[in-house]
Amino acid sequence: MAGRGVRAGADCAKHEYVMTVSDIDRLIQLLARLPGLGPRSARRAALRMIQKPETLMLPLAAALERAAENIHACSACGNLDAGDPCAICRDPGRDAGVICVVEAVGDLWAIERSGAFKGLYHVVGGTLSALDGRGPAQLNIATLVARVQAGAGGAPGAGQPGAGQPGEVILALSATVDGQTTAHYIAERLEGLGVAVSRLGQGVPVGGELDYLDDGTLSAAFKARRPVS
Ligand SMILES: [Zn+2]
Repeated sequence: MAGRGVRAGADCAKHEYVMTVSDIDRLIQLLARLPGLGPRSARRAALRMIQKPETLMLPLAAALERAAENIHACSACGNLDAGDPCAICRDPGRDAGVICVVEAVGDLWAIERSGAFKGLYHVVGGTLSALDGRGPAQLNIATLVARVQAGAGGAPGAGQPGAGQPGEVILALSATVDGQTTAHYIAERLEGLGVAVSRLGQGVPVGGELDYLDDGTLSAAFKARRPVS
């Protein structure tokens, strides 16, 4: 089996582009680990790439390598970006007086897509979960408290200079039991720091994860946010 080569593309003579069967299996196994791709979709994706080495597989490999080298978590907010602080933290047009707290970068992207929010973010990296053994120390909550205490969104040069302490923290966490437990915990930690704490209003269904909401629902939830009592 190991010696059985599979030629990829029509003109292999030009490029030494020969994959073994085990190479292909490895590619399919890796692709099948991606969210949304089962073994069947992974096989189809692998085949498409193998058939189009010059226009698909090699550019994709180069893009993956560049992303792996250059994209890191923003030290201020946890967003993923090539720069640190990230483009959102660096943007002087964003309102540094409001920080929106999300569970994951996917939620941040969903909110950015909706255009419903023009402040800064803080990615806590999940929810508190007794079942999964995730406590406050495993989440970026202490860094959020430090940001609020330090004032002005955290990133050097972010927002308006001298804007002072953020006036509002919006908790945009999932409407799941763990999400709401986490929101409650964060609200308690921010108590007495002189910042208004609100959470998303109507439109987020119970059990709903932000990443799956449509833009209109997300915008409505931002507008209808209410103080955490
Ligand atoms: Zn950032």
